[in-house]
Amino acid sequence: QRAKRVIGNWKMHGRLAENEALLRSVVKDAASLSGGVHVGVCVPSPYLAQVQALLGGTRVGYGVQDISAHTHGAYTGEVAAEMAIDFGATLAIVGHSERRAYHRESAELVATKTRRALQAGLTPIVCIGETLEEREAGATEAVVGAQLDAVLALLSADEAARIVVAYEPVWAIGTGLSATSAQAQAVHAFLRARLAAKGAAVGDVPLLYGGSVKPENAEELFRQKDIDGGLIGGASLKSKDFLAICEAA
Ligand code: 13P
Repeated sequence: QRAKRVIGNWKMHGRLAENEALLRSVVKDAASLSGGVHVGVCVPSPYLAQVQALLGGTRVGYGVQDISAHTHGAYTGEVAAEMAIDFGATLAIVGHSERRAYHRESAELVATKTRRALQAGLTPIVCIGETLEEREAGATEAVVGAQLDAVLALLSADEAARIVVAYEPVWAIGTGLSATSAQAQAVHAFLRARLAAKGAAVGDVPLLYGGSVKPENAEELFRQKDIDGGLIGGASLKSKDFLAICEAA
């Protein structure tokens, strides 16, 4: 039985005052959750100090939404894994579809960032997922399989056993149109087998679903055999909704 995880991805949202109200209420509510569920939030980097002050020593973990593939150097605008770690971060989303689409991140770059996160000591949450066009063309498994393979190719089995994978169908992100639990479970089972081929322990990594997870559909999604929790966008910005999703895990 794998532990459940609910991770918020704030994306480019938040201001100091809103963050404080949201985080205080998440911490308060998380205290009453059943012991097993892991809760975390991935925030815009400028707020790491604030998040450290409010979440340090609580059961709510935190991290960033992207990291540089490099350790340091002349890379204007980038944030190194070590910089996030300086503020107590333990998580880093890598390869989110918004970065693949708007920042042209290739499968190889995502793989390099994943390895960089692991080497620095962050847990990478590797996002993969197909577009609607790809799904309708029957290419879902080919697309997510290739995205996952690119990452696994760069990692040892020991390293691969320390990643988290998030399946986020692009057509379900921010659209209100979640994958059905059967659609999500089918892809998760496929990914689980692909991971297990890399090593027994790799087959047991947390596999999260993301894409319009809401209090109304979370329980049904999280009940699926190969769905170990969720990566939550919009609903992670409302403390009531985020807590309800955590409770469903
Ligand atoms: P929504 O929950 O807003 O659909 O976003 C999902 C997502 O992209 C999380 O990384």
